[in-house]
Amino acid sequence: MLGPVILAAARSDKMRRLVSAAPVTRSVVDRFIAGETLGDTVPAVRSLADAGLEVTLDVLGEDITDPAQALRNRDAYLELVEGLKPLGLGTRAEMSVKLSAFGQALPGGHELALKNVTPVVEAAAAIGTTVTLDMEDHTTVDSTLAILAELRERFPQTGAVLQSYLFRTEDDCRALAGEGSRVRLVKGAYKEPASVAYQDKAEVDKAYVRCLKILMAGEGYPMVGSHDPRMVAIAQDLAFRAGRKNEDYEFQMLYGIRDDEHRRLAAEGHRMRVYVAYGTDWYGYFMRRLAERPANLAFFARSLLTR
Ligand code: FAD
Repeated sequence: MLGPVILAAARSDKMRRLVSAAPVTRSVVDRFIAGETLGDTVPAVRSLADAGLEVTLDVLGEDITDPAQALRNRDAYLELVEGLKPLGLGTRAEMSVKLSAFGQALPGGHELALKNVTPVVEAAAAIGTTVTLDMEDHTTVDSTLAILAELRERFPQTGAVLQSYLFRTEDDCRALAGEGSRVRLVKGAYKEPASVAYQDKAEVDKAYVRCLKILMAGEGYPMVGSHDPRMVAIAQDLAFRAGRKNEDYEFQMLYGIRDDEHRRLAAEGHRMRVYVAYGTDWYGYFMRRLAERPANLAFFARSLLTR
């Protein structure tokens, strides 16, 4: 029951100021955020790669309020591409972007986000890697999928994220199960109304399995974005039944969550990609991680009290 309250707080400026100023917040945040700068983050990327893991990098920054911030976010991603170049990891280090960071929610946002994200996708392609468009709240799905379609005309390897909690997602999975498409399937992390999304966790899980079936049976490249051991096992089973080899799909998990499982799956020969977020604008991302698991909130509250 706490999840929706925390997700509402994730959008509150007052809470943002309060939580960001709390002296212990940083140590708790560090569990989920690899660093504040690219320089802090590169060693984490190297050590994940050395351990046989792949990464997708997210420069934190969302819910921006003016076009200048969108340009700064674009430039931060271009800087990231420059930072990845010497590592020579190719698609083993790709990038995840939130289109709200590129201006999607501003007036004229659809065109603005497309204009700002295109140079990042181009720069990624130039160093042999790619970009996945994260999915945000349900009001953005049509715009994000339209931007995906435009980008894929020139950069067919651009990836998308679909959220099983949305009623529409099975149809979106069918539409995106074609050859060359890359889809990360997640359960969904935003507070959504009952008119568009399942509210019951069991329903979200069942929808996740239905969506996985569509993606695994399709011609595209499914990216299984879940820490749920049941979803991981079901994905392996469905992939086997669809005749997929380990390189025909991948698992994805967030940095700081079930790290042992990252390593176990990689050691078993699976492709395992870790979502590594970095930057100073960590509030929204951090609050969604708290909302996903009440124990995280309890840990955070205890750190505040015991200080
Ligand atoms: P759950 O049933 O929520 O969790 C299963 C188990 O995983 C829990 O019992 C617990 O052991 C562990 N776990 C899960 N979350 C946490 C946590 N925060 N802290 C500690 N343990 C945890 N959502 C979007 O809406 N849009 C996106 O673009 C997006 N991208 C994502 C990218 C990746 C790589 C991943 C893994 C998730 C992404 N998400 C995104 C978040 C996703 O929607 C879920 O909110 C999140 O993954 C929790 O769901 P779960 O499938 O792990 O299963």
